[in-house]
Amino acid sequence: MTLPPEPQVSPHPTVITDPADLRAALRGHAVAFVPTMGALHEGHATLIRAARAAVPGGRVVVSVFVNPMQFGPNEDLSRYPRDLDGDRRVAGEAGADLLFHPDVPTMYPDGFSTSVSVSGVSEPLDGAARPGHFTGVATVVLKLLNLVRPDVALFGEKDWQQLAVVRRMVRDLNLPVDVRGVPTVREDSGLALSSRNAYLSADQRAQAAVLSRALRAVQAAYADGERRGAALRQAGLDVLTTAADLSLDYLSVVGSDMHEREIMDNDPMNRVLVAARMFGVRLIDNMPLAAHVAAGQSTVSPA
Ligand code: AMP
Repeated sequence: MTLPPEPQVSPHPTVITDPADLRAALRGHAVAFVPTMGALHEGHATLIRAARAAVPGGRVVVSVFVNPMQFGPNEDLSRYPRDLDGDRRVAGEAGADLLFHPDVPTMYPDGFSTSVSVSGVSEPLDGAARPGHFTGVATVVLKLLNLVRPDVALFGEKDWQQLAVVRRMVRDLNLPVDVRGVPTVREDSGLALSSRNAYLSADQRAQAAVLSRALRAVQAAYADGERRGAALRQAGLDVLTTAADLSLDYLSVVGSDMHEREIMDNDPMNRVLVAARMFGVRLIDNMPLAAHVAAGQSTVSPA
């Protein structure tokens, strides 16, 4: 006898907006948490699947909150892509149980006056290019960790410096959470997936793959034995000069503390990071200097 095919389940997670409802839904469960700003794509889905695997039988919570505190005055807060229905679908298919979607007054009530600033790792690179950005990130992540109280929280290596800032905060403030990094998910072209790629046409996305080619060129120079920071950096810059519409914020070769060195050692935490504006969109990417650093292996640190 042939059984009818299993119905395609697409379990849409429950959307919760009220922190008290969230606490009630999570009480007594192991919890894995993936904070996001929504417009979920395969990179987020990979984090959610890792969260699912981290707490079999527990609860996987995905937050969708476009955090005003981490945007500068001339940044894309108002036009940042929002798609809650799509987010429910992607999160559900990847194994999320709950989607926490608080509104801005819930997170930042009138008179809100506290901020968390992490010095050191948050200062160079995006910290210099986007003043106040990492204070906004650390503050909202701490708030979300306090609301969700997860056992495990997953962050993408795509935002390498953010991962370093979160790890440092969690360590410095003794937060009872296991922070795990997840390797960057890319298009076939090499372009790192990002919600902001939605601003680009297919042709522009193909051109934006130059960023990952520049990072790979730095990896190739490192593999050839180059250890001088400036020469490694130049290998990446040489690739970027081939791009038509690119304005560079930084291309930096750094250690786990996010600072450049004259000579790079063989620390697997050494990384090359790039940030550039292409077609009016600010894109970031990074890779380990040692291309053989296995997926997940580099997640022990940074910082
Ligand atoms: P966002 O919604 O951009 O704030 O990202 C939410 C989380 O997803 C962060 O921890 C990001 O680092 C992670 N993430 C975003 N893009 C990717 C990607 N392409 N691969 C892996 N993780 C990602």
